[in-house]
Amino acid sequence: MTAASPPEVLRAPLVVEFPFTRSLGPVQSAFLTGLREGVVLGVKTSDGKVMVPPVEYDPVTAEEIRELVEVGATGTVTTWAWNDRPRPQQPLDTPFAWVLVKLDGADTALLHALDAPGPDAVRTGMRVRVRWAAERTGAITDIACFEPYGGPGGGGPVPHDGGFADAVTGIVAEARLDYVYSPGRAQTAYINALSERRTVGERCPSCHKVYVPPRGACPTCGVATTDQVEVGPAGTVTTYCIVNIKAKNLDIEVPYVYAHIALDGAGLALHGRIGGIPYDQVRMGLRVEPVWTEGGRHPDHYRPTGEPDADYDAYKELI
Ligand SMILES: [Zn+2]
Repeated sequence: MTAASPPEVLRAPLVVEFPFTRSLGPVQSAFLTGLREGVVLGVKTSDGKVMVPPVEYDPVTAEEIRELVEVGATGTVTTWAWNDRPRPQQPLDTPFAWVLVKLDGADTALLHALDAPGPDAVRTGMRVRVRWAAERTGAITDIACFEPYGGPGGGGPVPHDGGFADAVTGIVAEARLDYVYSPGRAQTAYINALSERRTVGERCPSCHKVYVPPRGACPTCGVATTDQVEVGPAGTVTTYCIVNIKAKNLDIEVPYVYAHIALDGAGLALHGRIGGIPYDQVRMGLRVEPVWTEGGRHPDHYRPTGEPDADYDAYKELI
């Protein structure tokens, strides 16, 4: 018996990024504005504990808490992990330690970076202090990092009214997932077929459902799917929605229709945009076919074929 050479699978870098905008309640607003002003604020719980970073509700009683206190900018490392390969946008671009720091006057610890020459220079119990960022805007990054510190500590907690001029009331957190994606054997075959303008799914050997796009296994039967089946090119709109919100970086005029389309021969519907028909005339059962653009690796959209609508019974199991 000779081993078959494994099928070549695709790999590509994939980046998913989006800005996450959130408003701040009174406590977080005071905390971040305080950082801008070089002051670290915590909040006192009903049993007298000081939490830094602050929370808005008591973790024990769920009571709303508002009693702000100022704590020191010096503290003690309670635990740490060495990060020898900093990633883009992390607090430091040289290797550093992630640390939990209990600031003087606080009862809980804050997660941040510690600038240290190597893991041998870090230990639980070591004393550190805040290194403030040169320019501060009202964000956790106003603390550039922590640094080892041998001087006197103390400094809190001291009551603070949280009142600052021009308080920060909202932040935009940039979320970014940056990784290499390998779609695996089944989806590699699907993507390669698409480049030839064919849609290929896989049939479950047990329940005979045809998965498009294929995932390599039938989640119902728990068995691998290996039989390739060409489906489409035409299909039926099983359900749809009208999109009225324009997405950033997407050059499509609203309103437009995004639909679930069951390609002929497929056992489940895939997603696609419907074009070539006014948005308010799209309906369940509409027969559609893919429209490819020059050099496109997938259909740009689907348009009506002009055939009579499909009977509901013909696609009701695919909704
Ligand atoms: Zn199955």
